[in-house]
Amino acid sequence: MSIIKCIDRVLQEVQDASPGQDEFYQAVEEVLHSIIPLLEAEPKYNEFNIIERIIVPERSLVFRVVWMDDSGNYRTNIGYRTQFNSAIGPYKGGLRFHSSVNLSIIKFLGFEQTFKNSLTGLNIGGAKGGSNFDPKGKSEGEIIRFCQSFMNELYKYIGHTKDIPAGDIGVGGRELGYLFGHYKKLVGSFEGALTGKGINWGGSLGRKEATGFGLAYFAQEMLNKQDDSLKDKICTVSGSGNVAIYTVQKLYSMKALPVTCSDSRGMIYHKSGIDPDTLKLIKEVKRGDLSEYKLIHPDSKYIPKRHYKQGRNGVWSVPCDAAFPCATQNELNFADVQTLYENGCRLIVEGSNMSTTKRAADFIMAHRDILYGPAKAANAGGVATSQLEMSQNASMQNWSFGKVDTKLHAIMQSIFKNAYETSVEFGDEGNLMMGANIAGFRKVADAMIDQGPA
Ligand code: NDP
Repeated sequence: MSIIKCIDRVLQEVQDASPGQDEFYQAVEEVLHSIIPLLEAEPKYNEFNIIERIIVPERSLVFRVVWMDDSGNYRTNIGYRTQFNSAIGPYKGGLRFHSSVNLSIIKFLGFEQTFKNSLTGLNIGGAKGGSNFDPKGKSEGEIIRFCQSFMNELYKYIGHTKDIPAGDIGVGGRELGYLFGHYKKLVGSFEGALTGKGINWGGSLGRKEATGFGLAYFAQEMLNKQDDSLKDKICTVSGSGNVAIYTVQKLYSMKALPVTCSDSRGMIYHKSGIDPDTLKLIKEVKRGDLSEYKLIHPDSKYIPKRHYKQGRNGVWSVPCDAAFPCATQNELNFADVQTLYENGCRLIVEGSNMSTTKRAADFIMAHRDILYGPAKAANAGGVATSQLEMSQNASMQNWSFGKVDTKLHAIMQSIFKNAYETSVEFGDEGNLMMGANIAGFRKVADAMIDQGPA
């Protein structure tokens, strides 16, 4: 059977076995289509049925999380942990708390995480988890009770050599603290079973900044290859959480000008430049609404979501040279990328996982004058620094911010080099989506072959 026919059959099987799991299907389709050149060149992956095996998680846990709200009512949410692949190391990947979380989203994130972690060059497997619980609008007590109830089930399946969760949307330092505190109590020992911990209790300097800083380092590598740089580039950024804030901050140190940010209710356009300190104040300290930004910077413009053009994300209508989606999956649709292109944007670097819809990704791939940094390469700085946190925990050391940041920079350079050189090896120079997918897949698949039918 030809490789294309084999992939079509496998995709049909994914659809039949996971009906309605659109995000998972989208992620699998993208990876399988982009690794066709490798599968054609190396028959061993077909011989060992790697494709059929690699798309199935090793384990998916779905569990009930019951907690008590401030009025004394029992509330129920669904918890998830998908341990996707442990061929190259213990499972590793974040936890997401957001009302949109379901098994499809957790499986797509775990699948992507497997190849991302492989690309870092570090020995970490792929996983993802979370809950449809939304911390927004909950009291401190409710968040504590939810985190403890969530951990009452999750602790059985994680551990510093088994599965090491971290943060993601809705899970920051506060939630990780409550999760870690309860984990420690349940297992009766202090071990690095979570990353993103507080600096005083086993966390790493630089972890908070890592995904955003890494994203900017990756963009810099992409432009360096073109004898260009971020200097004087007008940048649009979406989101206003962890990844967005530290992307904005790092863009300034590269002499670029980030002019937008957003949250789930609206966006800010600040022509003279988004102020990262204001974002930190609103989102990290006050946990407030982005509309507050305008109160501090009256020269900025706040546009509520209801005023966005139908079916568009408002951020991408702002003319720019470079776009950094940093909010959530599928936040860049076909109309958005078309608008970006018409407005002259020629660099798209993904901070959020699977930022683009399938049609938007097809548009980008058909316009090779757009430099495109896919998420699994460009946003890998967070998980790479989580692994640096694990190294520090294992050796009982605390590295300086500078040491961690230097290592992060080197890892991002190496991820870019690996993806770029792989694109050259397979005859499509600069196609980083293909390069990243093939390089990430190859290491995991080879380990699976070595380990037999595990
Ligand atoms: P945060 O929770 O810190 O921030 C998420 C931001 O995106 C918030 O501004 C949020 O708005 C906005 N957002 C979330 N969902 C939606 C939505 N459906 N529509 C519009 N806006 C939305 O998360 P992170 O910054 O950690 O994560 C952002 C992205 O980066 C995710 O895709 C995540 O998977 C990815 N990522 C994160 C890493 C990390 O280290 N944190 C590592 C690698 C990837 P609001 O405040 O209103 O909720």
